[in-house]
Amino acid sequence: MRDYGKFYIGGAWVAPAEANFAEIINPATEAVSGRIAMGSVADVNAAVAAARGAFAEWSESSRETRLIALKAILAEYIRRSPELGEAIIEEMGAPRGLACGFHTYLGQGHLQTVIEVLETFAFEEPLGATLIRKEAIGVCGLITPWNWPLNQVAVKVFPALAAGCTMVLKPPQLAPYSAQLLAEIIAVGGLPDGVFNMVQGAGSVIGTALSRHPGVDMISFTGSEGVGVQISIDAAPTVKRVCLELGGKSAFIVLDDGDMAKNVADATSTMMGNSGQTCSAGSRLLVPASRLGEALAAARAAADAITVGDPQSGGIAMGPVVSKGQYNIIQDYIQQGITAGATLVAGGLGRPDCIDKGWFVRPTVFAGTNDMTIAREEIFGPVLVIIPYADIDDAVKIANDSQFGLAGYVSGADLDAVRAVGKRLRAGWIGLNGGFDFHAAFGGYKRSGNGREWGAHGFAEYLEVKSLLGYAPG
Ligand code: NAD
Repeated sequence: MRDYGKFYIGGAWVAPAEANFAEIINPATEAVSGRIAMGSVADVNAAVAAARGAFAEWSESSRETRLIALKAILAEYIRRSPELGEAIIEEMGAPRGLACGFHTYLGQGHLQTVIEVLETFAFEEPLGATLIRKEAIGVCGLITPWNWPLNQVAVKVFPALAAGCTMVLKPPQLAPYSAQLLAEIIAVGGLPDGVFNMVQGAGSVIGTALSRHPGVDMISFTGSEGVGVQISIDAAPTVKRVCLELGGKSAFIVLDDGDMAKNVADATSTMMGNSGQTCSAGSRLLVPASRLGEALAAARAAADAITVGDPQSGGIAMGPVVSKGQYNIIQDYIQQGITAGATLVAGGLGRPDCIDKGWFVRPTVFAGTNDMTIAREEIFGPVLVIIPYADIDDAVKIANDSQFGLAGYVSGADLDAVRAVGKRLRAGWIGLNGGFDFHAAFGGYKRSGNGREWGAHGFAEYLEVKSLLGYAPG
């Protein structure tokens, strides 16, 4: 049983102002796996005060000082990666191969990328007689979700540190373990006291207190649209910067000229990864209408081949979803798809055969239309909707007919055609034939948010721009 009863504030592990704990449930077993302390407004005030106190020194620290700290954190992160993987298995049910593999590696990849960006980043640039100077924005409140728990923390904490900001991290209540370990890892990095602080607890308490706090200069939030809107409202009176990374309903367009069976199978199994709990998941799969039968057969075979079960065991591709609440929401969406007349191609209601405990969902594929609720709302589970298109223009129109605009995907044999379609998608992160890049900006159009994370663009979110006019007269 894990027992995390302290917060990291001002360079020390401190007991919360009020003794209040929450049990954490293992979604694979439904058993209690541990407990965390739940913070109060007093803890937030203490953490913000510590971050404010550390800002002057850290924001004026040299590039070299920050690089030394980030490299020390990277070494410790790599050393403790197996522990991070174990924590992720327990807190949100990712299967061992994924938790100890990509989940953990993502955090490391972002840290390495931030180090690379910091090594050459131009904090000062001449513009005629003016000097343009980029300075740390100040104290940041960082609020993260449970679905890729380490990744979401990494894409905020590491660039904020590199930019010279100080911060208070508020990890997700459902999946708090990996963030607690990461705080231990950061604590050995040699940062000045108060640069990095972490308070666990309820979003409505800790998140709200950070959003409203006059001592916080910026909120970076990843999570649901509704909470993002509430944070914007809470932050407005203090005119702080609010960076939002919200939900998605991204389209994956399979062009007519490639290996249809392989491309559809890859898109299906990728979407189901992490139990479909990925904001950028290609959850609408657009296929040529003339090849719909072939596509449905490939998707059914791919979904049926996904092994669902105990995330602790090695050969499992999909674990449970994070909680009973998420399980019930997903079941409700599957029922809505059936009621709306979508064709159930694979999976369906209830747990997979032979599983009677844990929040396991059947990998589910529907064939439907873009006006159905299952094609319009973010389900955040292993539920894929296949939608036929008549021609390329129709595919682009369907893909862009969404209130979201986080990601998009295109696969096909003719790279020029793939590129052309990618350019027409109204979304921020477009994968062409499986491309991936830690340096590429990640973030959404429309209701998917307003910020950018990853690489140099994510770094820039944490900087103010100052113009020093008359800096170089003549
Ligand atoms: P959520 O919005 O419920 O919670 C996210 C975080 O906000 C948690 O730490 C929570 O405690 C906190 N919170 C809750 N209420 C708050 C409030 N009133 N004020 C401040 N903070 C509050 O989201 P979730 O269920 O944890 O995550 C799933 C959502 O996150 C999905 O919609 C998904 O698409 C989105 N997401 C987006 C991205 C992205 O980069 N765009 C990445 C991952 C997840």
